[in-house]
Amino acid sequence: MKKIQMVDLKSQYDKIAATVNTSIQEVLDNTAYINGPQVHQFQKSLEDYLGVKHVIPCANGTDALQIAMMGLGLQPGDEVITADFTFAATVEVIALLQLTPVLVDVDVDSMNISLERIKAAITPKTKAIVPVHLFGRAANMDDIMALAKEHDLYVIEDNAQAIGADYISTKGIKSKVGTIGHIGATSFFPSKNLGCYGDGGAIFTNDDALAHTIRGIVNHGMYERYHHDVVGVNSRLDSIQAAVLNAKLPFLNDYNEARRTAAAKYNTALAGHVNIITPSFDHTENNHVFHQYVLRIINADRNALMQHLLDKGIPCAIYYPIPLHSQKAYADVRYKEEDFPVTNELVKEVIALPIHTELEDEQIQFITDSILEFLNK
Ligand SMILES: *Cc1c(COP(=O)(O)O)cnc(C)c1O
Repeated sequence: MKKIQMVDLKSQYDKIAATVNTSIQEVLDNTAYINGPQVHQFQKSLEDYLGVKHVIPCANGTDALQIAMMGLGLQPGDEVITADFTFAATVEVIALLQLTPVLVDVDVDSMNISLERIKAAITPKTKAIVPVHLFGRAANMDDIMALAKEHDLYVIEDNAQAIGADYISTKGIKSKVGTIGHIGATSFFPSKNLGCYGDGGAIFTNDDALAHTIRGIVNHGMYERYHHDVVGVNSRLDSIQAAVLNAKLPFLNDYNEARRTAAAKYNTALAGHVNIITPSFDHTENNHVFHQYVLRIINADRNALMQHLLDKGIPCAIYYPIPLHSQKAYADVRYKEEDFPVTNELVKEVIALPIHTELEDEQIQFITDSILEFLNK
């Protein structure tokens, strides 16, 4: 059996090496390292893939979120509601822009932001909601968009973990996640579902004026060369990373399908065990693309299980071990522990298993056997 890895980027690369190498070589040959034709090509291809009017590439997913908030003109003191259970980047940029982060609890089944908790957190100062499609599962966008409309709020989708997932509205309309809110932000960090070989990110919107504003912000606030109309940033996807993404985008659907297939096998092998809650997903809808495969371990020693797996050479991890409201940087006197019952519980229960495009049946079998061996002993 091949050594089990959390993410196996080498085996993935080996299968597409010729295409990737050719694509990178073109950049080396024409030396347009910044804003080369590869960047423009990737932008167009991703717009087509997502069915969105504008993709604005940038340097990484954290920048994408920050620039999205800058583009919407959010001002210091504006309140932005987001999930307590997510990667810190989401809340970090809110705080960095001197907006006021308002962390709220998540739903136990989806692990995504709770609509009821958002409702309870809205004040006259609230300006935006940032749902995160956590672990690759689409958040409840219909209800979030309706609530945002009712209160005149912006919705910024943190789509770093769910690129390629579909959201099917209650009216039956299918859209790619990240294109439903006013603006979406994603990351091409190597281990993400569509990863480059360094840092990369992008912003999506269907709003022409907002897209124009953002194209200036990413380029030092310039709309005309050497005329700086607004305070901007320097955030670019470099041509070599765009070349890698051009080679990989055609495989994104297959990659997501491979993750979903692996997740289904895990679910089947672990189904019905009293100590395990497997992630639920509908096999007929592509609404969960399994950036992470996360189990909840209940009434058993999660940490000892992790050690057991690590001892057997099976990598595993906790996403995320500490709620954001308990992090020093984001603690706030307004937060009360009883407002975060789900996140406080999830951080004690979750365990993320290896999930990537190259997992083999034999590996999945060994992982699930090892989990059951521990829990049944
Ligand atoms: C990865 C990630 C980001 C940040 O992306 P970078 O490209 O690493 O800056 C933001 N939000 C979430 C939920 C992520 O998983």
